[in-house]
Amino acid sequence: MERVLGQLSLALVEHIRATGATQEQLLQESIEYFRGIADASPGVIWLTDPAGECIFVNHRWTEITGQDGQAAQGMGWLDRVHPEDRPAVERSFAEANAVKGCFRAEYRLLREDTDEVCWALDTASPRFSASNEYLGYIGAVTDVTERRLAEERALFLAYHDPLTGLANRRLLRDRLANDLAALRPGAGLALLCLDLDHFKAINDTLGHPAGDALLCEAAERLRSCAGPRDLVARLGGDEFAILAATEGEGRPEASLLAERALEALRRPYFLRGQPYVVSTSIGAVLAPRDGMLPDELVRHADIALYRAKRDGRDAARFFDCAMAEEAERRHGLRRSLTSALERNELSLRFQPLRRLSDRSVTGFEALLRWIPAGQKAVPPAEFIPLAEESGVIIPIGEWVLRQACQAAALWPDDVRVAVNLSPVQFRSPCLLAAVQEALADASLAPDRLELEVTESVLLQEDQANLDILCRLRGLGVRIVLDDFGTGYSSLAYLLRAPFDKIKVDRSFVAGLPGRRESKAIICAIAGLGRSLEIAVTAEGVETEAQLQTVGEMGCSEAQGALVGSPMTAGEAGALLAGMLSVA
Ligand code: C2E
Ligand code: MG
Ligand code: MG
Repeated sequence: MERVLGQLSLALVEHIRATGATQEQLLQESIEYFRGIADASPGVIWLTDPAGECIFVNHRWTEITGQDGQAAQGMGWLDRVHPEDRPAVERSFAEANAVKGCFRAEYRLLREDTDEVCWALDTASPRFSASNEYLGYIGAVTDVTERRLAEERALFLAYHDPLTGLANRRLLRDRLANDLAALRPGAGLALLCLDLDHFKAINDTLGHPAGDALLCEAAERLRSCAGPRDLVARLGGDEFAILAATEGEGRPEASLLAERALEALRRPYFLRGQPYVVSTSIGAVLAPRDGMLPDELVRHADIALYRAKRDGRDAARFFDCAMAEEAERRHGLRRSLTSALERNELSLRFQPLRRLSDRSVTGFEALLRWIPAGQKAVPPAEFIPLAEESGVIIPIGEWVLRQACQAAALWPDDVRVAVNLSPVQFRSPCLLAAVQEALADASLAPDRLELEVTESVLLQEDQANLDILCRLRGLGVRIVLDDFGTGYSSLAYLLRAPFDKIKVDRSFVAGLPGRRESKAIICAIAGLGRSLEIAVTAEGVETEAQLQTVGEMGCSEAQGALVGSPMTAGEAGALLAGMLSVA
């Protein structure tokens, strides 16, 4: 560098000699000469006098700060530095001065007439005269705004959800850990974990853009329910959380916050011009009462959330110790369920269905039973969801299919067997093959097998599952819509999917013969069945009066304690033999 400058100076001297200019002209020319060099620099070159006032900036200064170079003359350099960065820059100046060395620092420069800043990477050093007199500073600034913005964005994304702009799980965990560490005696924290009920149905029926719009709106509503110091986070999918500081144990404040959130999220969302109502389930924990470790609190909030969902959703539940024991028990059951098949702990019961016109047995529904070694039977309503969560429902479901087909192969040709299929089984690529194999191994005609599905199969993976249902029906098996009336009960599903039978949920039959509403609903479903040529079965028939009423309402078949309780395969065979011998 010095060699280059030396050569430039020599060239200048040569030039001056050749032109024979005056001293003044020479000085002016050399100033212009060096200004040209400074202006050609891609960065800002700046000089100050001993008082720290600016005596020179090149053109680049105006480009990056918007301030005219003339206006910059005489200003204090530190006055152009962002107030938050001033103390650090001042320290750098002092340190460089002390050692007569240079400093390198990154700081924000204020831009003219706007609130914006530009990020400067500055390399500066004090200048001294030949007699060691301090002359001020010379510095070279590179504009690193773009890099800093990209870094800030990356940092934001590392701690925030890009869709809603809310904090993410990582930031929530960090805040929780910090707040717990800084908790004053007598103060507390409340953590609410929220999950939108059946959000997947919105995504599946209206598409992902509508689902995203709903999530953004939900995030906005949660922000407005929470206090200014509370942290609202999106943990992923349709899961949100609120972390709030409380006084004392905090239960009343946390309950109020949960109520506010439930209320706000329950208001209709307008998607594609239509109102949609989505409820929410909340699991809540309080610190220090329910724990002082972040992971422990999150786990306890999840347990309380599970309880809120199990209790019918659209509610908040606060964690308690009994819930933890219950979760532990479920965990144990889920583990032992994975080897229940090998340990021969599973069996099937068969519940008869009768034709209402002549009360003959038309078929049996295969119902799974689990008696873990040394314990009492676990009800299907409890273990089927556990088997679904772990995925073990897939091998178990295949086993049920094989056993049910083999049992039915021993019955007369006009008696069918019905097998329940879980939505999780539709995710198995082997479902179709498993049905075919079970039929082939038992030499059972396909139309003697009925597969019972609930609406949830169509709510999830809508089109893919509909295709599977059509292909199953293509094998010749019959498709049954189970528990109709309990879920969304969308009539659209009845038309879209190839159902051979609808089973009216037992909650409607339970209201008979007295309840007018139950009668009206059963009547409507039976009427629809007749028009669509779909058989209609009434579930849970327990009394003669109910049996008579469902017949009058137009159902063709009944199932329930009155018609026959679930029985072993041997008992089912004996029932059929008795029936045959009577016939
Ligand atoms: P589901 O398919 O609706 O089965 C009918 C349920 O109603 C059975 O309960 C049956 O015992 C019960 N039930 C029958 N008649 C009456 C009655 O008159 N009154 C009352 N109160 N209940 C009656 P279960 O056996 O406890 O099964 C419960 C649910 O578990 C079934 O409901 C089904 O969704 C599921 N499930 C059972 N076996 C299997 C299986 O092999 N695979 C799958 N995926 N799910 C199964
Ligand atoms: Mg069923
Ligand atoms: Mg049912």
